[in-house]
Amino acid sequence: MIIVMKLGTPSTEIERVATEISHREFTAEICKGQHKTVIGLVGETAELDTRQVQNISPFIEQVIRVKKPFKRASLEFRYGEHSEVVVSTPNGPVTFGQNHPLVIVAGPCSVENEEMIIETAQVVKASGAQFLRGGAYKPRTSPYAFQGHGESALGLLARAKEATGLGIITELMDAAELDKVAEVADVIQIGARNMQNFSLLKKVGATGKPVLLKRGLAATIEDWLMSAEYILAAGNPNVILCERGIRTFDRQYTRNTLDISAIPVLRTLTHLPIMIDPSHATGKSEFVSTMSMASIAAGADSLMIEVHPNPAKALSDGPQSLTLEAFEELMQKLASISKFFGHWSKNNNTVATPKLTTRVSSFV
Ligand code: PEP
Ligand code: MN
Repeated sequence: MIIVMKLGTPSTEIERVATEISHREFTAEICKGQHKTVIGLVGETAELDTRQVQNISPFIEQVIRVKKPFKRASLEFRYGEHSEVVVSTPNGPVTFGQNHPLVIVAGPCSVENEEMIIETAQVVKASGAQFLRGGAYKPRTSPYAFQGHGESALGLLARAKEATGLGIITELMDAAELDKVAEVADVIQIGARNMQNFSLLKKVGATGKPVLLKRGLAATIEDWLMSAEYILAAGNPNVILCERGIRTFDRQYTRNTLDISAIPVLRTLTHLPIMIDPSHATGKSEFVSTMSMASIAAGADSLMIEVHPNPAKALSDGPQSLTLEAFEELMQKLASISKFFGHWSKNNNTVATPKLTTRVSSFV
């Protein structure tokens, strides 16, 4: 249930309503939007009479029931306003959100050694990315496959951050590593395979650190939003959703099927920012560019792209990784497309040097 307060309601009155409702064994969360202030109620509100709630204050404009099973993640909970996740990085704050420039996250599947991670970080930064990704702890289908270098790889990510000022996104697989990962990561990634690891979700929820929640391999949109709800319910509002392809019957030509429709669907359901990972979605580097452009056209707030200095020798996910050169080229295209869709900022990066001016203008 949400309580919409009238414009100009004194903050003391908003607090009074929230306190009053909390006494009735509901959790009340005040959310100050750009236009309206709303109080979200979570708990067993089914029996609660909306007229009774309305009577608490003459400053209450409306009382609305949120019928969906996800409450805090729902768009209604924010009274229709999309949220932003602001991440501080050494290069300055970066905002993920619908009305903000596209955020680019790039880097190798796994952090392999110092040279490759620093080189990749420098190139992706120069091309315009704001975040470096790279796995230290890798969820692999086979126990015999490379599992990631663990703690030493976290150290290398810290060095890459120091060298470039890029924000760091890396996956947390086990709660035992939470403190170590949180020390280096600006955004903690929860991978597809752990999307429903509820105890892990509660733990990252308790940190307050931004969390990138990847969609499970066979998760419905509702499953996914319920997982986001776990993090939000634990008190962490900084959740970014990442669509990375789902399992379908065809695994011959693509690794997964990118659910592009998840973008407009999520927009109607949730206020949370949306990232697309075309690399894991397609599993093939040759399709990454097309799906990146499609994601921007469909309204993604951010892209995560796997990049490797030598994909043929990569210890994981080589076939879907772009070379450094291919990434630079892709960024040129993305700058043009994003500008076209009004999703690029002047100071986003250095990419905007439009090598592709002729193509862009003919496209526009
Ligand atoms: C990854 O980002 O490297 C990864 C393992 O992703 P996912 O959890 O989406 O498979
Ligand atoms: Mn990978």
